[in-house]
Order: sequence, then C-alpha cells, then structure tokens
Amino acid sequence: MRHFISVNQLEADEMYQIIRKANELRDRPNQLNRQLFAGNLFFEPSTRTKMSFTVAERKLGVEILDFHIEASSLAKGESLYDTAKTFEAIGANFLVIRHPSDQWISELEQEGKLNIPVINAGSGKEEHPTQCMLDLLTMYQEFGSIKGLKVVIAGDIKHSRVARSNAKALTKLGAKVIFSAAPGFEDHTLEYPYLTMDEAIEEADVLMLLRIQHERHLHKAETSDYLSLYGLTKERYKKLQDHAIIMHPAPINRGVEIDTSLVESEKSRIFKQMDNGVYVRMAIIMHVLSEWGIIHENNLIKCKSLTAI
Ligand code: ASP
Repeated sequence: MRHFISVNQLEADEMYQIIRKANELRDRPNQLNRQLFAGNLFFEPSTRTKMSFTVAERKLGVEILDFHIEASSLAKGESLYDTAKTFEAIGANFLVIRHPSDQWISELEQEGKLNIPVINAGSGKEEHPTQCMLDLLTMYQEFGSIKGLKVVIAGDIKHSRVARSNAKALTKLGAKVIFSAAPGFEDHTLEYPYLTMDEAIEEADVLMLLRIQHERHLHKAETSDYLSLYGLTKERYKKLQDHAIIMHPAPINRGVEIDTSLVESEKSRIFKQMDNGVYVRMAIIMHVLSEWGIIHENNLIKCKSLTAI
C-alpha cells in the first residue's frame, strides 16, 4: 500500500487485521522502537481526527511536526507537493493530511515522487478512511462481526465522505447498507437503497447519523423542521430494535439530526467512536509503516501501563 487514501485499498482480512490490532492496543500500548517523526498537515478544521492522530502518535512515541497553514510557506504560494517534499527532506517518516479537495492525492502523485507514506485524514466529500475504520471497530466491538448487519446511514449523504467510505467498506465486509436522506441530500450515483427515516429506524442494527455539511452547500439549508421530518427524535428512538446502536461521526448539530437528549443515550456509541479513533489510528500508522518497511511490528517496545500513585 503506497499511501492510505481509500478504504478500497484494504482487503476484508486487512480491515479485520487493523480492527483487531486496534482492540489489542487499547489493553497493551506499544511504542515503536525507533525515533520517528510525523507531519500532521490539516488544511480543514478538525477536532477529533487531529487530536486523536496526535494522541495516537504520542502513544506510539512518534514526534509530531505540527503545522499551521497561516504560518507556513503555503501562505507564500508553495504547493502541497513542495510542502510534503519539505517534510520528507527534514525527516518526517509519514504524513497525515486532511484537505478540502478530492484531488489532492493525484496532484501529489502527478507532481513528483514522495518517498514517505501519506495517511488520508479526510479528503473533500470522497473519503474518510480512518473514520470508517473506527466506525467498523465500534460495530465489531458491539456485534463481533460486520457481516449481515443492516446499517442505515442517514443524513446529508450527498456531501458526506463518511457515508462514502463506510458504504464501500461495509459492503465489502458483507453488511447491508441502507441510505436515508432528506430531498436534495440523496446521491443517486451511489447504488444503495433508500428508506424514509420511519421505515429505516425499524430495520437498523446500526443507525449512523450524519451532520448536515453546511460548509459544502451553496445555500445554507433550512433546518427548522429537519429533526421532526428526517432526524432521530425521542419517538423514533423508542422504535429502534433493542440491540440497535446509534453512531455519529461528529461534530453533531444538536437538535437537528438528533434530539440533544439522545446524544448520550443508552444506545449511543458516539463517544465510544471517538475513543476508538485513537486506537484505530495507532493501528493504521503501524500497518502503513510496516508495509513500507519503516518499522517491523515485532520490533516494538511493550509498555506496561502505569499504575496511578
Ligand atoms: N468529522 C467528519 C468529517 O470530517 C464528519 C463531519 O464533519 O460531519 O467528515
């Protein structure tokens, strides 16, 4: 795997390998047995992804080369490729990139040759592979397997990279993906069945809600009736199956896609997803670095967890 850009790059058994590794890392943190540097290049706002990459890298003992666009030579017109090459030249062993464009990876590859791996931390509306892997881990922890699950992805499908990455990976792992969207938020270029929220709610093993992606809309969407028509209300919550869980990649528009009282309800795994994000990102970093021969997984320092004094 040259760079980790799309969930399409992973075979089903590799997905499970990462999921299991992430689970293992929760109980047994490992450190890499050599000094490594990561460049975290975030060209779009991020809280969870950026912070959980930071924690994942620190837990692995990786030094972080933090980056602020406004204070970098990008502000003087330097290209993404030249910025990435600069990080490579000064010793970054891998890059984590979030970018608003869907094309940045092909631009990076066209301009020349980057000799370090890149991990996609969210690109345009097409891919968010690390979010997808942490979502899969959350479902795996709950159900033990992904095969046969009915996963309803509900919300602004048209502008969501989370929906795209998840739909592809879930299908590969044998889940049934169902979409539910308000008029105008569907994407019929993606071949998945649609149900209304009321129909979908009774089918779902997993209800994955999506944020309305206002920043990708030309006109601000009107949301005053959204919750009652398309969102997860308290009434709909009661109709979920006993074993069903609720997920959301966050940030959440409280009172829009979900009633605010349900964000931390019994069925909600929203904060569990965030916790899982750290371990999945550790597992992905290890997977990519070992594929490049930068580390060998049997060359890890196993850290004993510190007991509180
Ligand atoms: N945090 C996720 C993303 O970066 C979901 C969202 O922003 O709504 O795509």
